[in-house]
Amino acid sequence: MKAVQVLEPGKINIIERDMPTLERETDVIVKTKAAGICGSDIHIYHGTNAVATYPRVIGHEAVGEVYQVGEAVTNVKVGDRVILEPIEYCGECYACRLGRPNVCEKLKVRGVHSDGGFQEYFIAQSDKLHILGSDIEFTDAVMIEPFSIGAQVCFRGQIAKGEVVLIYGAGPTGLAVLENAKHIGATCIVLDMNENRLAYAKTFGADYTFNPSKVDIKAEVEALTGGMLANVVVDAVGSTKVMADAVYLTSVAGRIVSMGFLDQKAEISMLEVTKKEISIVGSRLQTYQFEKCIEYFKHNEVHLTDLITHKFHFEDVKEAVALIENEPEKVGKIILTF
Ligand SMILES: [Zn+2]
Ligand SMILES: [Zn+2]
Repeated sequence: MKAVQVLEPGKINIIERDMPTLERETDVIVKTKAAGICGSDIHIYHGTNAVATYPRVIGHEAVGEVYQVGEAVTNVKVGDRVILEPIEYCGECYACRLGRPNVCEKLKVRGVHSDGGFQEYFIAQSDKLHILGSDIEFTDAVMIEPFSIGAQVCFRGQIAKGEVVLIYGAGPTGLAVLENAKHIGATCIVLDMNENRLAYAKTFGADYTFNPSKVDIKAEVEALTGGMLANVVVDAVGSTKVMADAVYLTSVAGRIVSMGFLDQKAEISMLEVTKKEISIVGSRLQTYQFEKCIEYFKHNEVHLTDLITHKFHFEDVKEAVALIENEPEKVGKIILTF
C-alpha cells in the first residue's frame, strides 16, 4: 500500500510500505477514505514542529471504513464508517487520572509522534475510533477533528450560555471556537485583520466582527457589554500581544484561553489578573469531545465544512502542499482523498 511520508524536513514522498497487521486484540485496521491537511502537517514538513519525529507518515484528521477488527473489539465492526481520534495516552499519569488524557505525560499524537492517517490503511486502538453513521460525507467528516478543537476551548474556558466571548483570529481554529460557542448560546465577538476571514465569521454566526487594526477594541467591547468586558477571551492566533492585551479585555471572574504553541513570553499585568480573579488556561487538542461534535455534523449544524476549497488525491500531495505554500490566500482547507 501507499503512504505519504515526511522523510525529514523539506522532503515529502509517496512511499510503498507493508499493510498494517493486527497486533493487539483491540486493534482495528481502517481503510482510509479522506484526510485533511492541517497547519501542523505543514509545520512537520517545514521542520517547525518542535515535538515531531522523523520519518513520519503525517495526518491526524482521518476518516475511513473499518477493514479488519481484533478479537476483543466490540464497538466497531467491518464496514463501519469511522473517524480517528488522533491521541494515545498512558491512562495512569496525573493528567490521565484527572480525566485529561490529552495532556498525558506520555501523550502521542497520531501523525506527529506516531504514524498518522495519510496512508491507504491505518491501524488504531478500537476506543480511538468513533462511528460516523451514514449521513456525513467522508470529506465533510474530516472537519470533525478541527471542530473538536473548538469544543475543547469552550470546555477549558467554561463558556456558558449568555456569556460574551471575544475570539482573536478567524482562521479555522477561531471559527471552530466560534461555532461551538454559538451552539452553547454565547454572544461572540470575532477579531481578525483579514476582512475575508471576518466575512466568514459573520456567516458562521459571529454577533460582531472587528478589525483590530482599524478600531479601538477596548472601546468597542466596553460599549457592547455596558462596561462589563468579555467573560472569556480566546487567543486563537498564538500572539504574545494578544495575551498581554487580553487581561484588559476580560471581565471580572473571566477566563482567558491560550492556544499559542511557540515558546514566547507574554508580558501580562499581574494586577489585572489578581484584582479581577482572571483564570488563564491553555487548551490543547481535545478530550471526550468527538461524540458531541459528530452529533452536530449529523444534524447539519456545522459551517466549518464551508472552508473546504480543494480536494486532491493523496498521491498528488506535493501539488497540494505547493498550493498552500505559493497561493495561501486561495486555500481554505484541502482534503486528500484515498
Ligand atoms: Zn489539525
Ligand atoms: Zn497519561
